[in-house]
Amino acid sequence: MKRSRSKPDPWSLWKFFEQFPNEAASVAYMEQKRWPRGVQCPHCQSYNVAATKAAKPMPYRCRACRKHFSVRTGTVLAESPLPIQRWLMAAYLMTAARKGISSVQLGKQLGVTQKTAWFLEHRIREALQDRGGLLGPEVEVDETYMGGKEHNRHASKRGPRTGLRGKQPVMGLRARPHGTVRAFPIPHTSGDILKAAIVEHVRRGSTLYTDAHRGYIGTPGFSHHAVSHTVGEYVRDQAHTNGVESFWALLKRGHYGIFHSISVKHLHRYVNEFAGRHNAGQDTARCLDVVARGMVGRRVTWRLLVA
Ligand SMILES: [Zn+2]
Repeated sequence: MKRSRSKPDPWSLWKFFEQFPNEAASVAYMEQKRWPRGVQCPHCQSYNVAATKAAKPMPYRCRACRKHFSVRTGTVLAESPLPIQRWLMAAYLMTAARKGISSVQLGKQLGVTQKTAWFLEHRIREALQDRGGLLGPEVEVDETYMGGKEHNRHASKRGPRTGLRGKQPVMGLRARPHGTVRAFPIPHTSGDILKAAIVEHVRRGSTLYTDAHRGYIGTPGFSHHAVSHTVGEYVRDQAHTNGVESFWALLKRGHYGIFHSISVKHLHRYVNEFAGRHNAGQDTARCLDVVARGMVGRRVTWRLLVA
């Protein structure tokens, strides 16, 4: 995936409210992101749409399929009663905090309950999920373990391959030169799982940099350089996994410092959040762009989260 790093431009809260002074400006922004070529019916994809009188029951009506819709229809915001401006503010606060923001803190800042903030955060995490595309031409690959209790955090990741005291293995890939990170939980760290994930996410012919985990050996279609930490090997030029390891470090600081405990069930969304924030850099406009466009076609219900 070709991605040029945008210049870091973290907004001040002041700038946020200059950009989104009210609900109308916030809705206009979301519509522009969702429908850059003009308002399109999310039910039948027609552009033949009309604005309704006083936005009742919804702001738009499709002339082709006669259904009503708004910019929220068919997105993670579909059932939310919260104003769009507050959604954008939540996305701003979440992406501005390098290690994330707890739902208690977010609730206080938004003026909503912790429960509402928690639900909101999970839907924004879902929107931050990478839409895919193959990584390359050089990719660092590594695994770590997440979840479980604080006192287990130093447990060797070279321990049992599965079931490390309720911890979940997470695989991470970091492409060079742009630094795009993709990370996701995996069921276990067997060679089959690691290789399948590489084939799914990395362009064939790319060069892989991994640690000495045997599961990476012999991934067909890729050249592979392994670094052995155990024998204290020096970093050989490009053959290191430092980039993905610094991503793990930030993820773990967020996990232990901000979120305290993350259940395995929701782990993938937290990992999405950290990868999404990392990939957008310190650029608020780009973070909001990723969230706004990532909301479309996704759905996270309260029932799904608490079931
Ligand atoms: Zn339609």
